[in-house]
Order: sequence, then structure tokens, then C-alpha cells
Amino acid sequence: MHLNASPANQMEAEGDGLLRLLLLLLGYISRTQRAGDRRQPAGTPRKRRSGSREFPLGRRAACDIYWHGVSFHDNENIVSGQVNKFPGMIEMLRKINMSRAVRTMQELFPEEYDFYPRSWILPEEYQQFTTQIRLVKDNDASVNPTFIVKPDGGSQGDGIYLIRDPSDLKLMAGSQAKQAVVQEYIQKPLLIDKLKFDIRLYVLIKSLEPLEIYIAKEGLTRFCTEPYQEPSQKNLSHVFMHLTNYSLNIHSGNFIHSDSQSTGSKRTLSSVLYRLAAKGVDIKKVWSDIIALVIKTVIAIVPELKVYYHADIPPGKPGPTCFQILGFDILLMKNLKPVLLEVNSNPSMRIEHEQEVAPGVLEYVPSPVDKEVKVGVIRDTLRLMDPGLKKPSISQKEIPTEAETQARIPDDGTLPSLCLKQVYPKYSKQFNYLRLVERIAALFIRFLGVKGNMRLGPTAFRTFIRTCKLSSSNFTMASVDILYIDITRRWSGATPDSREAGMGLQAYMDAIFYLAARRFKSLALREQVASLLELCEAQLESPSSVEERRSVSCSRAPPPRANRTQTLGLTHPQPYSPSPLRRAASQDYRLHQRLKPRALKVNVEN
Ligand code: ADP
Repeated sequence: MHLNASPANQMEAEGDGLLRLLLLLLGYISRTQRAGDRRQPAGTPRKRRSGSREFPLGRRAACDIYWHGVSFHDNENIVSGQVNKFPGMIEMLRKINMSRAVRTMQELFPEEYDFYPRSWILPEEYQQFTTQIRLVKDNDASVNPTFIVKPDGGSQGDGIYLIRDPSDLKLMAGSQAKQAVVQEYIQKPLLIDKLKFDIRLYVLIKSLEPLEIYIAKEGLTRFCTEPYQEPSQKNLSHVFMHLTNYSLNIHSGNFIHSDSQSTGSKRTLSSVLYRLAAKGVDIKKVWSDIIALVIKTVIAIVPELKVYYHADIPPGKPGPTCFQILGFDILLMKNLKPVLLEVNSNPSMRIEHEQEVAPGVLEYVPSPVDKEVKVGVIRDTLRLMDPGLKKPSISQKEIPTEAETQARIPDDGTLPSLCLKQVYPKYSKQFNYLRLVERIAALFIRFLGVKGNMRLGPTAFRTFIRTCKLSSSNFTMASVDILYIDITRRWSGATPDSREAGMGLQAYMDAIFYLAARRFKSLALREQVASLLELCEAQLESPSSVEERRSVSCSRAPPPRANRTQTLGLTHPQPYSPSPLRRAASQDYRLHQRLKPRALKVNVEN
């Protein structure tokens, strides 16, 4: 196996952490070999006992695996092999986009997606937020909810604060409105040793098509360093009490570094689960709820990811395939229900931590707890992705035994048991029905046409309507044009600087919801959408549709005149009104903006 893990990417992303981790690779390299490597001239490929070779400075010939530090776009010239990042993942997992994706699922499957706290997107939903909170308080004066405000691009707890009243929102950054998510604060988390903690779980998306998800059996738990109290006006600013971020709590005098996996401020997930089991908690149920949360979350983000994927690696164009390790941050409520806090696209793979070895002197020292969890994740990922190796059999117990978790990485290089467990398609039967939005994305992609495009133009939208036979005497093509204009305007209204015209996937979903509601009035939303999709998919299967699409895609019709001249609303036969839950206006331009890797936050140690 040829592994391209260039130091430019590597060091930026991980410092020495991942590099060492890769070198270790459970015996892929021994101590003496490492010493030998250092004497080799720069750029010399490093041989691994597994037969793989690492090219830290890159390689002209193709590699089997490209290990990027930040984003898919770290290296634009890859035409084969596998890259450890998906295009668009960073954008998708930003707080606002993540909230949108989950919210769409909440509209369709409210019960299945109740693991994500109620959220509002700022500034666009400021009014809804304040009105809803006032209403709740007016109805019952004893209700005094707390909210957590998270800046859109933030990580490691940066810029996060708690509020109890909408008037405490800090809405502006200079003259600019702050992009943020304000979220219901979970007031009753599960406590251990009187401390709030959260779970960091590593999840591998091995492929998008077909969808393959693996979950690491072992994870980390990160503890607060000040005993927890339910939020009150007095303690709202106590970050060591309310925020579990490692990067914050490490600065508390109470932070405990421990070489043991079951004590200290960072512990293994299994040590916490066994402690709960000892108290009589049904940890199998907790674990299966966590697996369900992970699968449902991935299902929520996959549709948009597929659009990015299609834009960067269109079918037919030579390109790599992708996989990615994600870091899921999960909170357990007092009633043991897992809650999704966020998903990190670049979870830190450091296996050291900073320690004050002498007064004022900080040094990186090995962290056995991190090593226990992360080495297995990287090792199994490489094994699963290695084209030359036989796929491991995934018949494993759901939770590692205590003996397994105690097992250290052996110095002799033998491989301990696998830690990544396949959960999808293994449990696909239980979750497949949730993949409705993916079918919307498939339609969207089908009509995108031009390679590299992520937005539907007016002609393509008309083609979609015509091919799927969605227009009628009651819903003429003129109405279709107005619908297109109306929705795209709503989605770009708040983005005067957006240069990208057209209808993105989110806007297209609004169109689908609207068309579905129009056509299948008597059904519930989910059935409306499913029925419309069935109708469209059936039309697309018919031979005449192929011919029609071909002829329309060849003709370069100008956008409907209404785009420039028509007065919106006045001529609309049936004014478009999105469901109240669906966002009215949007700033999804961020979603489609290609962020430069340099500007992106690198691996997040929360
Ligand atoms: P960041 O990316 O900045 O780490 P997170 O969404 O992970 O942002 O939030 C930071 C921390 O705040 C979490 O680790 C958790 O301890 C706490 N937190 C976040 N959201 C909530 C919530 N809805 N309820 C309770 N605590 C939360």
C-alpha cells in the first residue's frame, strides 16, 4: 500500500501527533526503524512491516491512500486512490449547516430526530427565537430555559456563552451580524463525580455510495473541572462547569492528567460505561441509542455531501474515492438519553497532551488514554481502506470487554483486536426509511447537468418539472418560473454578496416540499414528499423522459424573463409559502462557498 501523508498537511493538522501515530501503526514500524528513518534523506519513502510505504513529501506516481490534514482540497491533483476527506465535509459540519440538515430531518421525522436540541439560526431566525421564547415564558412564568450560543465557525468552545433571555444575545461583531446557532441548553446532564462530561466518538464514513459507516467501539469522555450546578444567573459564565471542552478545561487548576483510563479529566468511554453498568444502568441500551444517533446524523448530512461529491468528482471523470474519520460529540442526559452536540470534520488524533513539567514549562507528554482510543481508529481505518488487505470480519461484540480495553498496544507489533465496528449497512433495515432527503438530492443531482455545478439554473428546474410531469393547467410553466424565482430569492435574499446564482439543494428541497404539499394535500408531510418522489422517480424511469431531458439539456434557453422583470408576488398564481418550520430566508451561500484550506481550523481537540 502506498500512503501519501505529506508533512505539510500533516504537521499543520496534527503537529507531531498523527505523524507518530501513523508511524506507530501498531507495529508497522519499530523503534529501531524509526531511528533509521531519521537518518534517511528527506523524501525517502518509509517502508512499513505491513508492506505499505509512506511518502511524507508526496509522490509523483499514484498512491493508494492520501492522508490530508485539513480538507479534500489540500491536494487538487489526485485522480485515483482514496483520500481521507470528503469534499464539502467541513462546510456541511459547520454549526449552521449541521443544524439545517438535522432540522430538515426533524420536519420529516420528528420523533426519530429528537436527539438534537432545538436550535435557531442567527441572525435570520432572531425574530422567531425571541417570539417563541416570550410565548413560552408568558404561558408559564415558572419556565426559565437557558440557551447556549455558538458562533458558526467556532470550535473548542471559542465564543460560546449561555443566556437566559434573548436580550442577552450578542448579535453584532463590529458592523456585521454574527452568524451563530442558539440552542436549547441541556440543563440536566448525567454527572459522574458531580461533573458534567461529554463523549467523543470516532466514526468512519467508509463510502457514500453505498453508504458504509463504522463506529469505534472505544471513545473518549471529557470532564468538566468544576462541579456541575443547574444554570442560574450566577453561574452562567462558569465555563469549567458548563463546557466540557478539553481545550478549555486543561487551563483549569483542577484538570487531572491521569495515565489511568478510568480516572482524571479524560477517560475512556468504556471505563465510564462500566462504571454506569456497576450502578445498574442498561449500557447496551445506551450504546444502541448512541449507534442510532450516529447513523441518523450521517443520514442527515449525506444528501448535501453527495452534491459536493458530484461537483468535485462527477461520474465518468477520473478521481479518487473518499473516506473520512469524524468526531461525534455526544452528551448523555440524566435520563441517559444521548444528545448530539456537534460533529467535527477534523477530530484531533493527538496522542500526547500538554503538561506543565516544571513551573511555566509546558511539554508534550504521551497520553495513554488518547493512545488507547486513537491508535485503534487510525489502524483500523487504514486496514479497512487498504486495497491490498483482506477486509476484516466485523463480527464483534458491541462494547469492548474490560479486558479488551485494558489491553495496551503491544511493543512487539502484534495487532490487538479491531475497534471499528460496522453499523451501516449492518443496520440498514432499521434506518433505510429515513433516507428520503437523499432521494431528493438524487433528483437534484440528476438535473444539475453541468459538471462541477452545485446549483440548478431556471432551465434545469423547468426540465425537472416537465420531465416529472409536475405542471398542469393549474400549475403552468409560468407558475413554475415564479416558484423558482421566489424560492431562490428567499435563499439568496440575505446574501447580497453571493455571486452564485441558482437553486442550491436546500432551496430545491423547499420546492419539493411545496410541490408535494400542493399535489398531495391530504397527506402528512413525510408521505407527501415520499409520494412526490415516487411519482418523479417513476417518470424518470419512463423511456420518453430520457429523450426529453436530452433535448432540453442541449438547448440553452435563457432564464425565464420573470427572473429580471416580473414583480414577484403579484403574478404568482399561488403564492409560495414554506411550512412554518422551514426556513424563510437563508444564507446557504456559505454552504457552497469553497473555503480555502488555509483559512480553515485544523484538527479540533475539544
Ligand atoms: P465547540 O465546537 O466550540 O466545541 P460545541 O457545540 O461542542 O462547540 O459546544 C461546546 C461545549 O458546550 C460542549 O462540549 C458541551 O459541553 C457544551 N454544550 C454544547 N451544546 C450544549 C447543549 N445544547 N446543552 C448543554 N451543553 C452544551
